[in-house]
This record gives sequence, structure tokens and C-alpha cells, in this order.
Amino acid sequence: MFENKTRVFVIDSSAIFTGYVSQFTLPLYTTPQVISEIKDEKSLTVLETIKITGKLIIKTPSRKSLEKITKLSKDIGEFQSLSNTDLSILALALDLQLEGKKPVIVTDDYAIQNVAKNLGLDFQPIRTRGIEEARKYIIVCPACGYVAKKDIEKYCPKCGHKLIKKRTRTS
Ligand SMILES: [Zn+2]
Repeated sequence: MFENKTRVFVIDSSAIFTGYVSQFTLPLYTTPQVISEIKDEKSLTVLETIKITGKLIIKTPSRKSLEKITKLSKDIGEFQSLSNTDLSILALALDLQLEGKKPVIVTDDYAIQNVAKNLGLDFQPIRTRGIEEARKYIIVCPACGYVAKKDIEKYCPKCGHKLIKKRTRTS
């Protein structure tokens, strides 16, 4: 398993928290944003362990990839579900893919998995099953049916109800 030399892993904080990454022997990429989120003792211990082995590579994603990820996540209705850290992970994976590597994002976050899937990037869930198909969402008002034009809208401009995320029908 995992014998392809160009295959690399991109890890988020959940991958570090569970200790799941300790078993990997290949380069593990992550972003400074993820590292700055690691504060609990257990995760810090895991982080120290993978740092010592020299497997961990901390890299800031390119602005171009960040912009592309931001746009795509807005297009598919996931932008609200993603933190800046989540976006950084996805952008880094995109950078690595453009460098000719085969990145696998290790994450339990469904929104990250969904953006990855829409981009054709591989992901590996940790404690969950992971999503099986790429999904697209729209933001709608449950009361009057208003459809938000922007993913960042939170309340219905017509009747004031809280907008909800709804999966669009795929053929
Ligand atoms: Zn409404």
C-alpha cells in the first residue's frame, strides 16, 4: 500500500488530533494555519513525534490556488462550511497536484472532502466513512423558497427566515 513515490499526504488538525498520522511514513504536508490551531497536549505530542521523524513539511499555499479553492467552494455552496484553515489545506493540495504529486487529503471534514471530490483530489477519511459522491448545494429560504445568490447570505432578505443549505438534485 502507498508505494507510489509521488504520493503525499496533506493533513488537517483532525488527522493530527487522532494520532492517525503517526503510522504514515511518507511526507506529510500541512499549512501554518493548521499548526497554529494545534493547542491540546495530545495533539502537540503527536505533532512533536512527526516533526522529529522529519516527515512533516509545513507549507503556505499559493494565493492562486487559494483563490481557485475559494471560488469553487462558493460555486458548490460549501464556502460557509469552510474555515480559512480548511481552505488552506485544499489550496496546498492543489499546489502539490500542480507540482505533479499525488496528494491525498487526510480529513474527516465533509466540506473539505466535498470540495476535494469536486476538484478530483483524493481524500482519506479517518473515523468516518467519507462522502461517496460530489455534492452541490444551494442556500434557500425554508419559508418562502428564496434562493440566495451568494453563499455568504445568512437570512432571507424577503421574509427574514434563517436560510438553509439544500442539496441540489443531480441527474
Ligand atoms: Zn424567505
